[in-house]
Amino acid sequence: MERPIVFLDIDGVLNSKQWYAQAASRKEERNSQPSTDRGLLERSIDPACIQRLNRLLQRTGAVVIVSSSWRKKHELSEIVSLIKARGFCGEVIGVTPSDEGTLSRGGEITSWLKTNVPRGVAYVAVDDEAVTGLPPEVVVLTSKDTGLTDEDVERAIRILSR
Ligand SMILES: [Mg+2]
Repeated sequence: MERPIVFLDIDGVLNSKQWYAQAASRKEERNSQPSTDRGLLERSIDPACIQRLNRLLQRTGAVVIVSSSWRKKHELSEIVSLIKARGFCGEVIGVTPSDEGTLSRGGEITSWLKTNVPRGVAYVAVDDEAVTGLPPEVVVLTSKDTGLTDEDVERAIRILSR
């Protein structure tokens, strides 16, 4: 596989404290809709962050591997369906391994890379928490306050273009 890879965290990347704060003022909208688990999950994703992710993927041709802990609670197909409902139009091709409980998130990413692209590929990890076990120059650290920003996207594009 030659396409670059974005290892994607979800909480703090595709949503944020700001997004949840705004959700409080969208209460009426929320009350007018059936409050299903699915609906709640969908509304936890900020469509503006999804649009930024779309731009990153379109500009670089990258595909997504989910590294978020969401992969432990939800089937990949469910995650894809949720983010598509919020406007995602890229390609998600897998999740990092979670059966090796002792690995850090960076370790999980390294393990996925070793198994799937032994000859190496351009990649970036986008996460709102420090990713131990990866070189800092391949990590885009987002803010929990804002989620994925335009600046984060530019930084990720530079990392994938090296
Ligand atoms: Mg996170």
